[in-house]
Amino acid sequence: MEITESVEEYLEALFILEEKGKKVAKISEVAGELKVTPPSAVEMLKKIEKEGLVDYRAREGVALTKKGRRLARRIIRNHRIAELLLTEILSVDIDDGLHEGMVCAIEHHITDEMADAVCTKLNHPRICPHGNSIPKGKCC
Ligand SMILES: [Zn+2]
Ligand SMILES: [Zn+2]
Repeated sequence: MEITESVEEYLEALFILEEKGKKVAKISEVAGELKVTPPSAVEMLKKIEKEGLVDYRAREGVALTKKGRRLARRIIRNHRIAELLLTEILSVDIDDGLHEGMVCAIEHHITDEMADAVCTKLNHPRICPHGNSIPKGKCC
């Protein structure tokens, strides 16, 4: 299975839940984060588990593996760097309902080199416009 944008969204959601202290997330929490139904979350998580990116245990919940966390960390970094690219460099309001989708579009396509270039331009910021911490890149 290739790592699709949808897989990346799941990894991102799990990383965010981890940031909130939930190392093992309940399916309902993952589903809530992604606005999908619990059965479709389970179906997807089982596929992602086959790739070795998550540990899924029925009844207990789901956790990122080391490999999954490494990927998730990169997507989160790209997401938060994309937010800063839009707000700090392009002066776009990302919370106007119009550009939030833009941030998500960029996060899946921006290269590490581009993210590092934005990061460097902004002096290696540590938090996004929403106050969430930005994982360090090679440039930091
Ligand atoms: Zn943010
Ligand atoms: Zn940096």
